Formats: sequence, structure tokens, C-alpha cells
Amino acid sequence: MSTLEFTVYSIRRGWRFSKTFVFAGAFAAAVVAGVFAGLASAPLASIWPPALLVAWSLMFASRIRTRFFDPYAKPKTSRRAELEIGLLLVVGVHAIIQAAGGLGSPLYPLVYILVAFLVVYTPQWMGFALVAAAIGIEVGLMVNAGPDESAVFTTAVHGVFIVFFALINFAVTRSEVARTRLEARRVLEAKQVEIENEARDFRLTAPARGQTGALSRQDEQARISTAAVRQVRNAMYQHVDLLKKTMGLHTCVVLWLDTQGELLRILECATETDAVTDRRIEKGAGVLGAVLQGGRPLRLKGLRCGYGGLPYYEEPVKVTDFLGVPVSENGITRGILCADRCGDRPFEASDAEILLATAESLLSILSNERVFSQLQKAKSEQSKLLAATDRLSQALTQKDVVKASLEAAAQIAQYDVAAVALVIEPGAKQKVLCADGQGAEKLCDKEFSPSSALAFAALKNRHFLPYRAELDPRSQIVFSKATQKVFCRMTSAMVLPLVSGEIPLGTLVLASEKAGIYTEQVRTTLQVLGNQLGAALLNAKMVRRLEEMATTDGLTGLPNHRTFQEELDKKLASAGRFGTNLSVILCDVDKFKNVNDTYGHPVGDMVLRSLGQTLRRNVVRDTDLAARYGGEEFVILCEGTDTQGAVNLAERVRGDLEGQVFGTEQGELRCTISMGVATFPQHGLVKEELIEKADTALYAAKEGGRNQVRTWDKSLSDK
Ligand code: GH3
Ligand code: MG
Ligand code: MG
Repeated sequence: MSTLEFTVYSIRRGWRFSKTFVFAGAFAAAVVAGVFAGLASAPLASIWPPALLVAWSLMFASRIRTRFFDPYAKPKTSRRAELEIGLLLVVGVHAIIQAAGGLGSPLYPLVYILVAFLVVYTPQWMGFALVAAAIGIEVGLMVNAGPDESAVFTTAVHGVFIVFFALINFAVTRSEVARTRLEARRVLEAKQVEIENEARDFRLTAPARGQTGALSRQDEQARISTAAVRQVRNAMYQHVDLLKKTMGLHTCVVLWLDTQGELLRILECATETDAVTDRRIEKGAGVLGAVLQGGRPLRLKGLRCGYGGLPYYEEPVKVTDFLGVPVSENGITRGILCADRCGDRPFEASDAEILLATAESLLSILSNERVFSQLQKAKSEQSKLLAATDRLSQALTQKDVVKASLEAAAQIAQYDVAAVALVIEPGAKQKVLCADGQGAEKLCDKEFSPSSALAFAALKNRHFLPYRAELDPRSQIVFSKATQKVFCRMTSAMVLPLVSGEIPLGTLVLASEKAGIYTEQVRTTLQVLGNQLGAALLNAKMVRRLEEMATTDGLTGLPNHRTFQEELDKKLASAGRFGTNLSVILCDVDKFKNVNDTYGHPVGDMVLRSLGQTLRRNVVRDTDLAARYGGEEFVILCEGTDTQGAVNLAERVRGDLEGQVFGTEQGELRCTISMGVATFPQHGLVKEELIEKADTALYAAKEGGRNQVRTWDKSLSDK
């Protein structure tokens, strides 16, 4: 795009954007200049006023089109059009007032009406901008007229009134909006409660609210029940509508007893009139009471006009015949199915049969839905358990397993405090590895000695405690008296033993302040979780064992050759990075072949085990590492230690072993070791070089008469 084209484009775009504002400004200036003053008396005295009004109308129509009739207008454009319409209205009204005789004209209140309208129907900021524009025009008029005291006073009064009208309308509208919203929310909540109640009346949910497990479970159940209620209602309507059409009824209605069995409520209704009540009906009222009491169909004929015994009508109606049948399930009456009609057409016994069959069908819909929603609930419960099991089986360390198990428990049941304790010595202490909720910090990492507390009793009996998960914190100690304070407000608790086969592993504890929340269903699910947790814990233990086996030497319990190599790589890298020393000490038992030959291999093994302990005893720094290099050779890595430091350590080990006497069948045995030391960086920079030099030094120690420590030096490389 050339500069010229761009300039033209910008001007055109700017004009499109601002033309209405420019026009409104010019129109306002014309009003202030008094152009419309004589318009009413002499419309054609000047060309300007009519021309301006025509232009105003065209502009107004175009803005209205953009705001209300342009389906492609972007939200920003519509918003701008709103502001433009507002401005045009403000200047237009002022022009009309001027034409009708100026600020004192009887049309002046139009400004107040307009302001009130604009404040209500435009966004807050826009409303007040338009109010400011209206006041601005008046101030302009006043200034143009050469302000005297009374003109200033009038303008001020107008200004105050305009603002007052704007504010009052603004406040009223906002409060009305708030009220409407509140009302809508109330209606919505009432609807939800109604659905929940219906679900309960249909026995689709648990007996009472608040007796289920965690909140998420409640939501879940509500969702399932809502869908079920909708299904039931749909099917019911189909039935009554069909009956009404086929039997030529005036009204066909299903009435249902509430959970208490006291009040009847219309569930579904197909009727010719709108006189059917939406209130609850006493179960003993009119013919309904008779049907409920009799427990069998009731037929009435020849009812007089205005008969008042049909309590499902608000007012007496013209029906002449009535038929009502009880809807009973397992001998318990749940509701009534009623039919009535006009025109003296009495119901036959066969009609009663039809209604009874329909009642049966209604009940079977209900029981199907009940089974269905039970299945749905079981399915959701199972999928939670499955997800938990999945997570448990993925956790490989004890800590991960325990954490995953608490998360899973939270999905299944509500708790105020939860903990997992593990047995740390066979048949003895338990240690809380993880806790969550109120006072969790008081339980975490605590160790408990065996006692009669629930955690130990449950594990011993291999069954959850306390009985029915009801806790009396004064007499039933969960872990220990010292930590019982954590449970002092709890009234429900599940202390689940965690076992795998016959091995006791620990306990899972959940407790809540709410009474009776660990229902039988929740207890069963938790028990399954407990079993899974037991298996996962054992799994974690095995994984740890396998890892140990892969990294440890079986005879001495020291890290093995592979671990040594990995550690040497790591430690060399870090020594290189930080410019520190790293010493390698190779050890070899002197004349070990002789030991084996003379005393036998088992004694040789005993010596090696003892050397392992000697190393463990002497190599104590966290940064040092003693490992079995292979056969009767051992190695020590000393991080941040120079040659002299390493020699000192080696001497300590050597001296320690030298002083040991092994008792054997063939008499006392003493053993010695020879050791070679090499240090990074002065003796070597890479792994192979360091080991080779330590080995050379060791060889020199053997050459030098054994039972000694030698350091690598240049003279050795010449040999
Ligand atoms: P030197 O003083 O020169 O080291 O003599 P040495 O007899 O110790 O020499 P050499 O290194 O040849 O012998 C090592 C012996 O250690 C050979 C092997 O039978 C024995 N040995 C290696 N591993 C074990 C083990 O796990 N248990 C036992 N009992 N003996 C082992
Ligand atoms: Mg050897
Ligand atoms: Mg040896």
C-alpha cells in the first residue's frame, strides 16, 4: 500500500469511525447556537433546522440498524453504536425542547425521562457519559445566552435533577436485577430439593440427606438420581396421557405419598382443566382417603355438579364419574392412580382392571429405575476403586503407596483425619508414615509401641475396629494416649488392618466428627481398598529388596562392584567440577588362599564378613564409600580427602584387622591386609588410571612384605 493510499485509507477509516460523533458535536453546537429556536412557529424560515433534522434522522436510522439489525456487527461495533444512539438522542431531545420554547418549555422533563432510560439500558460508564453530555449542552446554552444569576441557578437545578434521576434509576434497576437473580437462584435450589425429595420418595437414593460418604459421593448420587427421576416422570406422563386419551377421561392423575406417608402430591397429570391443584393433600382427604383406607379400587358414579370430594381439584368441577386405584408395592401403598370423566359415563370393573394394570406398570418402571440407579452407583463406586487400585499398583516406593492410598480413601469416604501406620519391627512398633487432616502433624512420623490401642487390636484380630465404625474417643484409644487428642472430637472411625497373606503390615485409620458416615457400603469398599493397600505395600517391599540385591554384595552387605563403579563415576565428576581431591584405596587380604586351604572356605567367608564390618566401622563419613571390589579385594572411596588423609584411614583399617583374632576349630587365626592408595587429581584424572595406580601401589605393598599401606609414586611406574 502506497503512502497516499494508506493516508486515504486512514482518513476514510477515521471518518467512518468518528462521523456520528462529529455530527452529534455539530448538532449540539447548533442547539447551543439556538438554531432550532423558532422551528415550531416558522418551520421553513431557515433551511438549516429541517436539513439538520433530516440528517439526524438518517444518522439515527443507520445507527439503529447497526445496533439492532446487523447480524454481522462485532460486539465492539454494537457497543459503539449504542453510545452513538445515546448521543443522538441527547442532542435530538434538546433540539425538540428548543423548538418547543427552550429550557422553560413543558417538554423539558423529556430530558429526565431520557436520562433515566439511558442509565438503565446502557452500561454504567456509558450511561454516565451521556448524562454528562446532556448537562454539557445545558451549560453551553447557559454560557451562550450570557449567564446571569437566574440562568446559572436554573442550569444548576437542572443539573442536580438530571444526576438525581440518573442515580435513582440506576440504583432501582441494579437492586431489581439483584432481586431477580436471587429469586432465580431460589427457584433453582427449590427445584433441586424437589428432585432430591422425589428421588427419596421413589426410594432411588439413600434414606436421608447427609448420611452418605464424601461430598463428591453426594454430588455423584444427586446426579444419578436426577437422571433417574426424569426417566420415571417421563414414563409416568406417557402412561396417564395414554389412559386419558383411550378412556376419554377428563383428568388422569398419579398422586404419590411422601416419605413420611402423610401427604399426597400430584406427580403427573393429564387433564382438560387447569383447576388441578399443585398443593399437597392430606392423605385422608375426600375420595383419596377412601381409596387409601380401602386398599382397593373405588368407583363413584352420578356425582352431582360441584361435588367437592375430589381434593386434587382447586375448585369443584363438572365431573360425574370417578375411579381411583391404590398403587401398592410389596403390600405398602405408595400412591393412588385416579381417573374421572364427565357426561355420566360410569366406570366399569374392567376400567378398574386397566388402572390396576397401569399401576403395576408404574411400579415396575420405578423398580427398574431403582435397580438401574443402584447399578450406576455401584459402577461409580467400582470405577473409583479401580482407579485407586491402578494408582496403588503404579506406586513402587512405600511412601508413594501410602500417599496414593490416602488419596484413594478420600475418594471413597469422608474424613477429618486420616493416617497410615506401618509395622517397623515384626510384631512390634507401628510408625505413622503419612497423615492428613486435622492434627495430622501430631501423628506424622510418630512411633507407637504395641498396646491394647485400636491400631494394634485391629491388626491382631485381622478385622477393622471399632465395632460398626463408631468411636468413643474417651475409652477407645486409636494409637496411644499421648496422641489421642487428635481424635477427641471424632465420633466415627475406621481402623483397618493392612495385611498381606499372614504378614501384618500396618493400619489405615480414617476418622470423622460426623456420626455414622462409615456406612456398611463404605466400610466394605474401604476393606477392599485395605486389601489392595496391603498387596501394594508388600510389592513396594519386594521392589526395595530387589533393588538392594542388585546393588549390594550378599556376603558382606557392602555395596557391590557395580555400585562402586557408578559411585566412582559420580564422585570423579563432582571432584573435577569442584576441584577437590578423591582418593581410592584398594585392599587385598594377605595370603588368603592359605586361609581357605588351611581352615576351609567357611572360615575364609567369616574373615571376609568380619573385614566388611571392620570397613563399615572405620569408613564412617557420609561422603566415603567402602565396597567389595571382588573376591578378597575391597575398595574405599574418600571424597575430598588427599593422599595423607587416605593413608591415615587405611592405616586405621589395617591396624583394626591386624588386632582381630578369629577362633577356628584349628586354633586361633589372624589375618592382615595390604593396601594401595591413589589420589585424584595428582595420580590420575580418569577412572581406569586411578584404579590402575592404586593397584600398582597395592602390588608394591605386597612386594614390600604385606600388612602395609603404600601410596602410588613415580618410582612405582618405573618398575
Ligand atoms: P596375596 O597375599 O598375594 O594376595 O595372596 P592371596 O592368597 O590372597 O592371593 P590370591 O589373590 O591369588 O588369592 C585370592 C583367594 O581368595 C583366591 C580365592 O579362593 C579366595 N577367595 C576369593 N573370593 C572368596 C570368597 O568369597 N570366599 C572365600 N572363602 N574365598 C575367596
Ligand atoms: Mg587377590
Ligand atoms: Mg590376597
